[in-house]
Amino acid sequence: MSSRNVEILVIGAGIVGLAHAWIAARSGRSVAVLERRPAALGASIANFGLLWPIGQPAGPMLKLAFESRALWIEMLEEAGIPSRRTGSLHVACRDDEQQVGMEFAALAPALGYQCSWLDRADALACSPALRRDTVLGALKSETEIMVDPREVLRRLSEFLAQRYAVSFEWNCTALHIDPPRVRTTKGEWCADRILICNGADFDVLYPELFANSGLVCCRLQMLRTPPQSASWSLGPALAGGLTFRFYPSFTVCSSLGALRSRIARESPEYDHFGIHTMVSQTTAGELTLGDSHQYGSSVTPFNSGEIDGLILRHLDTYLRVPDGISVSERWYGVYAKHPEQPYLRLQPAEGVEIITGLGGAGMTLSFGVAHETFYPSETKEMA
Ligand SMILES: Cc1cc2nc3c(=O)[nH]c(=O)nc-3n(C[C@H](O)[C@H](O)[C@H](O)COP(=O)(O)OP(=O)(O)OC[C@H]3O[C@@H](n4cnc5c(N)ncnc54)[C@H](O)[C@@H]3O)c2cc1C
Repeated sequence: MSSRNVEILVIGAGIVGLAHAWIAARSGRSVAVLERRPAALGASIANFGLLWPIGQPAGPMLKLAFESRALWIEMLEEAGIPSRRTGSLHVACRDDEQQVGMEFAALAPALGYQCSWLDRADALACSPALRRDTVLGALKSETEIMVDPREVLRRLSEFLAQRYAVSFEWNCTALHIDPPRVRTTKGEWCADRILICNGADFDVLYPELFANSGLVCCRLQMLRTPPQSASWSLGPALAGGLTFRFYPSFTVCSSLGALRSRIARESPEYDHFGIHTMVSQTTAGELTLGDSHQYGSSVTPFNSGEIDGLILRHLDTYLRVPDGISVSERWYGVYAKHPEQPYLRLQPAEGVEIITGLGGAGMTLSFGVAHETFYPSETKEMA
C-alpha cells in the first residue's frame, strides 16, 4: 500500500492532539489525526471539563493558561460548542480555609488573577449550590470555564473533519516512526512534522524514552449525578477548601501551612488518597464530582468505595443540590505528569515532537501549549 502524505500528522485524538490539529488546520496546513481507539477514550473525556487558570502559578504558566483560555473561546465559538463561562468559587467552611482564601484574594490583583473574597451572604447569593449552615465565604474567580468534555471531544473532531478536511483514522495505532514515515496498523503515512500527543500511553512509541523521562501516571476517581432539574443550575464551578492545598497557585499564601497541618492531623485519609473536591456541570445538567490522586505505575482497574465515600463526605460539607447527591456514574481516569515540569516537550528525531505530561491541567493548557508548538517565539513574547 502506498503511503498517504500530509504536512502535519498528529498521533492521539485527546484534547492535546485535537488542539494541535485545530491550530495547524486553521493556518491552512493539511492535517491527519491517528487514534488507536474507536474514539478519544483517554483522560480527555474522563475529566471535569474545567478550564482552570486559577490553578496555575503566577507568571509564565498563568499567562499560558490565559492564552489557552482565549484560544478555547475562539474554538468553541467557531465550532458552535456550548460552554459555561461562570468563573469559580473556592468555598471555605473552616477558619483556616477562609484565611487562605482571603489572603489569596488580597494578593491576587498584583499577581494577575481576577479574584475577590466573598463573605457568607455574597457567596450564598452567588451560588445556589452552597449550604447555608456551613459556608463561611468563598474566593470568587472570574476566569474559569466549564465544558462538557465528552461533547467537546466528539464535536471538535467532527468539526475539524467537516470545516478543515482533517482526516481522522480511528482504530489506528502508530507503531513505529522513521521520519518522515510512520508505520501504523492501517498502513503507512508520510508527514513533514509528526506530533505525538499520546497522553499516558507509553507502551508503543519510544518506550525507552518514556521510561527515562521521569513521567509518572496518576489515577483519579470521579463520580457523576443524573441531570439536575432544568430550572436549577450550578452557577460557578465549585472547589472545596481542600483544593487550596492542591494547586501551586496557592503556595504564595503564608496561611496555607496551618490548613495543611490541620488536614494532616484531623483527616490524614484525604492526604493519603490525594483527595480534594470539585464540582462542574455538563450541558445535560449532570454534576461531575471528584477527585482523588494516586501516583505510580500500577494503575488498578478497581475503584475504591472508600475513596468515593470520602469524596462524597467532603462534598456534603458545602454542597447542596435540590434532589440530594445521587450517583449515576463512577469511573477513573489516568493522566501523565512530570514531578518538576508543567508538561513535557521532547524531540526524539528531526521532524518528530512529543507533547504530553500536562497532568491535571491538560484541558486548561492544551490550546496554549499547541499554539506554542507552532508559534514558539510569539508565545515567548506574550509571556
Ligand atoms: C479524572 C480527571 C480529571 C481531570 N480534570 C481536569 C480539569 O478539570 N481541567 C484540566 O485542565 N485538566 C483536567 N484533567 C487533566 C486532563 O484531562 C489531561 O491532562 C488531558 O486530557 C491530557 O490530554 P492528552 O491529549 O495528553 O491525553 P489523552 O486524552 O489520554 O489522549 C491521548 C490519546 O492518544 C492515543 N494514543 C496513544 N498512543 C497512540 C498511538 N501509538 N497511536 C494512536 N493513538 C495513540 C490514546 O488512545 C488517547 O486517545 C483531568 C484528568 C483526569 C484523569
